[in-house]
Parts: sequence; structure tokens; C-alpha cells
Amino acid sequence: AKAEGRNNYRFFLPSMHERVKERKTIEEDLRNALEHDQLELFYQPKVDCLSEKVVGAEALVRWNHPERGLILPGDFISVAEECGLINKLGAWVLREACKQTQIWRENGMPELRMAVNLSPAQFQDADLLRTVTRTIETTKLPHGTLELEITESILMNNPEKAVSTLKELKKLGVGIAIDDFGTGYSSLNYLKRFPVTSIKIDRSFVNDINVDQDDKAIVDAVIGLGHSLHLAVVAEGVEQVEQLQYLQNKGCDFIQGFLFSRPLPVRDFEEWVRDRRE
Ligand code: C2E
Ligand code: CA
Ligand code: CA
Ligand code: CA
Repeated sequence: AKAEGRNNYRFFLPSMHERVKERKTIEEDLRNALEHDQLELFYQPKVDCLSEKVVGAEALVRWNHPERGLILPGDFISVAEECGLINKLGAWVLREACKQTQIWRENGMPELRMAVNLSPAQFQDADLLRTVTRTIETTKLPHGTLELEITESILMNNPEKAVSTLKELKKLGVGIAIDDFGTGYSSLNYLKRFPVTSIKIDRSFVNDINVDQDDKAIVDAVIGLGHSLHLAVVAEGVEQVEQLQYLQNKGCDFIQGFLFSRPLPVRDFEEWVRDRRE
């Protein structure tokens, strides 16, 4: 019945509704994807800035669409948010990432932390704490292994609620990273109030670190601010060795970026980690 509906859309809707139709199609396909195992997690290594040893991974969701091939989250996360599928999708991502971490722990991989992205809607979901608690229990992840990446907007929406949710997560041993730091509201006093553990400098600042004086100043300031608040500072989008060297000199703590590795399917990630240890 689902496939039929999809074909009907394709056939009957007028072209001026192309975009709406496209959304509808993605929405239907996405419901289907959740039921038919079409989602897959890729893992990007997180590396210690000085030693360049891998310390963890960020889970990034991909969609293996039967007709369209590999689809990136930029093309379906917002649809999932709008049609109310994000909580289901997010719970799957969380479970899958934690299960994988547990498998690695049992199979002699180095002990890695696992970072999972949370959408604003997931953060507001009344079931979030229950889902996280259950997932950590069933996968027996030790404290400090799971980290959730959230954006600043989450904190600004309902600060009181956000503080209490974050405190509960902290009790569960879950780390909190502020993603895309510097691109949102960046209200500095919030950083002090919220029990967060790290900030991730957005890759737009890292990009021009060696050519743009303003970006350099922002990165220096964020590292200084993070450290004075006892937060770990992560730089994302590191592609060039000059960027790495700059960040190493400034005492940045962790690095992610294509310089080390793109996000990889699980087998490739395992191989990458193994090769790096030798
Ligand atoms: P993000 O959390 O900021 O993730 C980093 C994005 O930057 C990833 O894109 C990654 O592939 C890319 N990236 C990493 N290193 C480099 C680099 O050196 N250069 C460049 N140019 N890009 C780099 P991706 O995987 O397409 O994800 C895009 C966004 O989708 C993520 O941004 C995140 O906001 C969202 N997302 C991904 N997976 C999930 C998920 O499971 N749940 C939710 N709610 N959102 C997700
Ligand atoms: Ca992220
Ligand atoms: Ca980011
Ligand atoms: Ca982002």
C-alpha cells in the first residue's frame, strides 16, 4: 500500500507542488526506512589534539535509499523533525550507537567514547531521559562513555527545563557537548549555568583559521573561554595540517575532521582504528 501511495503522488500532483510532493515522498520513504533497516550509522573519529590518538567517535546517520542511494542527514533530518519521526529515528540512532560501543568494548577495540547528535525536538521529548536510561542500562556503558551533542538553541528555548534535563543526564554519566559553538545565540552566561562538558568550535571558524584574523581571534577566544570554564574544547572540520598545528599550539583538546578521517561505515572505522594503533 505504501509503494502504491508513493506512485500516486508521483503521477497526479501538479508540478507547482513539486517541493511539497518531494517532502511527502521523503516522509513516506522515511517511515518505511525506519521499518526496513535502511538507516546506517557512520563513525567519525575524534582525536586527541596533542597525541593524535583516537579517543572516540561521533555517530552520523546515513540513509541507504533503495532507489536514490546514500542520502546525507542534511536531506532528511529536517523532514524527520517536521513530520514527527525524529524521536523514533533518534532513539534508533542512540540504541545503535550504544550497542556498537558495547560491541567494541567486548572485542578488544580501545575504549572509545561515543557522541550522538540530538535534535531540539528530541531534547524536549518527555521520554528522552527514559530512553537514555534504558539504552545505557541494556548496553551497560560505563559512566562517561556516552556524550550527547546539542546546539545552543536547545538551551535558549526553555532554560529551566533544559537545566534540569541536563542535570539528570549528568547523573546518568552522560557528557554534553555544545555543537556548532559560536554560530547560535552564544550567550556566554548560559555556559556557566548549564552542566555541559565540552564545546565544539564550528567548522566555519576552523576553516579560515590560518588566513582570517577574525576567525583566528574567535577560535582563540573560544579555547580560552572553554578552558576557564573547565570545558573540553573540540575543533571540528579540521582538513589541513596547518589548521591542526594552529590548534595544537593554542591548546585545543580534541580534533575532528577530514585530515584524520571522514565519517566511515563501521567496518572501515574499525580498520582505521586498528591501522592507527600499529
Ligand atoms: P554536525 O553534528 O555538525 O556533524 C559534522 C558534519 O560535518 C558531518 O556531516 C561531517 O561529515 C562533516 N564533517 C566532519 N569533518 C569535516 C571536515 O573536515 N570538513 C567538512 N567539510 N565537513 C566535515 P553530516 O554527516 O552530513 O551531518 C550533517 C549534520 O546532520 C550534523 O552536523 C548533524 O547536525 C546532523 N546529524 C547527523 N547525524 C544525526 C543524527 O543521528 N541525529 C540528528 N538529530 N542529527 C544528525
Ligand atoms: Ca555533531
Ligand atoms: Ca557541528
Ligand atoms: Ca551542524
